[in-house]
Amino acid sequence: MAKAKTIQAPKGMRDILPEEQRYWRHVLKKAEPLLEFFGFEKMETPILESTELFTRSVGEGTDIVEKEMFTLRTKGGDSLTLRPEGTAPTVRAYIENGMSVRPHPVKLYYAGPFFRHDQPQKGRYRQFYQLGAETIGDGSDAVDAELIFLGHKLLSGLGLGGYNVHINSIGDSNCRPAYVKALKDYYKNRIKKLCPSCKVRLKTNILRMLDCKEEGCKEIAKDAPQTVDYLDDDCKRHFKHVLEFLDEAKVPYILNPHLVRGLDYYTRTVFEFLPEESAGAQSAVISGGRYDKLIEMLGGSKTPASGWAMGLDRVVEALKDNNISIPDSKPKPKVFLAQLGDAAKRKSLVLFEALRRAGVETKSSLGRDSIKSQLRIAHRLGVKFTLIMGQKESLDGTIILRDMDASTQETIPMEKIVDEVKKRLKA
Ligand SMILES: [Zn+2]
Ligand SMILES: [Zn+2]
Repeated sequence: MAKAKTIQAPKGMRDILPEEQRYWRHVLKKAEPLLEFFGFEKMETPILESTELFTRSVGEGTDIVEKEMFTLRTKGGDSLTLRPEGTAPTVRAYIENGMSVRPHPVKLYYAGPFFRHDQPQKGRYRQFYQLGAETIGDGSDAVDAELIFLGHKLLSGLGLGGYNVHINSIGDSNCRPAYVKALKDYYKNRIKKLCPSCKVRLKTNILRMLDCKEEGCKEIAKDAPQTVDYLDDDCKRHFKHVLEFLDEAKVPYILNPHLVRGLDYYTRTVFEFLPEESAGAQSAVISGGRYDKLIEMLGGSKTPASGWAMGLDRVVEALKDNNISIPDSKPKPKVFLAQLGDAAKRKSLVLFEALRRAGVETKSSLGRDSIKSQLRIAHRLGVKFTLIMGQKESLDGTIILRDMDASTQETIPMEKIVDEVKKRLKA
């Protein structure tokens, strides 16, 4: 028979192999206690959500909704979408679970896979992982500053310095219309020079024109009206206070008038953490902002909120690129359990469990039959003792204890072996 054709992971999706797991574990091990200390509680939402959740929140006219969603129809006829981001699901859960009656702000965090049908490239996958933090029910500038501070602490705690916070304020429903009008007037006079996507954005999502990556559009954006010049007094004061907090906390930031964020629901503060030597094409490792309108848009009552999401794939890549050493948390085995013959094999499984319960790091290779090959493994693992149960020992109720360094061995009654091993490991 011909060999069956092999099957590959879907484009832009990948396996995270055992040897990579320590990076992922390390990031969460650093992040979770920090978030908990700041009062964030972990929560999980489904991978699939109603498609409407994203069309209504992220918004028609955005790349995410127009091009990048993995949407499927269930056998029952519902339209579901693999979550492309975590804020809308968190807010959906906040409303659905009646969390508005809890003491505010409600501070939540999550970590998991997200999906966008994007063009795959380094650090950008169709299944990617994010850690997100959201503070719901507090409109104050201090909340934005706290979130940015937290992101900064998290990266520096991982040994990843070298990121700048790019920050801007895009105003709110009171002052943004005047800005959008000014922007429209500006771009209308330059419509011939715009790229095809921007010609569409002029009608659907004008703010996005400011961060278009086309050279011609970038040139035009340079002289475009800036949001900060159109902020009303409240928004201006809010933004000023956020910056004062960051100054006080010595978080380095760059005022970036072209930072608008790709999602419709942002208001006031928006920010991204970008590598210092970024030429502008680099992707953000953390991005977020305030979204005072989203909870209302999704059917809740008027509730201010703010949050960010961190790209875990990019963080793990940065840890590797910077050769940051990750402590190997796996304990080294102290004992190898070898066996010979069927009866011994059966008994050794029980002994293996007794050693585990006693807290003795043990390895064995139950599938092997030759003592020689098992001893070879024991040497490779560098264990201190090897326990050998042969046919004779399994009948006698004894076991051989071999000291690997001294190359000596003795026979010990089975019922004493766990205590004996513990005693000798302590010595
Ligand atoms: Zn305003
Ligand atoms: Zn463009």
